[in-house]
Amino acid sequence: MTISKVEPAQPLTAGFVSNHTRMVTVVEYTSLRKCVKCHELKEASEFYPRPGGRYLTAECKECMKKRSRNRVPVDRKVSTVPSETDVIAELHKQGIPALPGKALGQQWADVIAYGAVLIEVKSAKRHYRGSYNFGFTPSQRAGKLRGDLVVLVCKHDDGNTFHVFYANNPVFYGDDGKLKTGIAWTPNAKHKGRFISLTDEMMYHAQDNWDLVEDHLTKICARLTMGYQLPIRLIAA
Ligand SMILES: [Zn+2]
Repeated sequence: MTISKVEPAQPLTAGFVSNHTRMVTVVEYTSLRKCVKCHELKEASEFYPRPGGRYLTAECKECMKKRSRNRVPVDRKVSTVPSETDVIAELHKQGIPALPGKALGQQWADVIAYGAVLIEVKSAKRHYRGSYNFGFTPSQRAGKLRGDLVVLVCKHDDGNTFHVFYANNPVFYGDDGKLKTGIAWTPNAKHKGRFISLTDEMMYHAQDNWDLVEDHLTKICARLTMGYQLPIRLIAA
């Protein structure tokens, strides 16, 4: 019997009892390994090594090949998130070239305009209490908004409205400087409760304010002209 050098192998006959004495339990190891997909016991050579080479994949080669044959190719130029697709369409209407972040290898950026301006998209339907609630994820809260701009998409029954903000707009941040867990807009709210942070005035001013995209591009160009060393993800701070 051989012991797999690559990973502790499956005990094929775990609990095997020696012929000589029933008191001693001998566990025999083999190089056979069970595939988590087809559940067949196969030789270690039937598995690919993982990056680093110390371990083997959980699925056998055959199962992995089968999976990649059946994989539907993803079109990275098309977002799978409807609100992102809507924002991209809206930018195109303004004559601004835009793509989903992942089309440019920026997985966490929802939309990138001019190949440089990073845009986060948040969308909300009207809550039954009349508000539009935009939530931020815990990972966004941990590291601020990573986009340059935030587009809030309000989904109305008869279509969307788009509200464009700078990501560092104080309205998104609490007194401690941290990103809020979320932000709400209640149109025509008569009583400004403590949870209303987006006012009608702010939202109407920000509506279709796509000029901010050009504005930020200009800032990027200015920094480039001044000879800033650009990090790989361009200027986002
Ligand atoms: Zn398999």
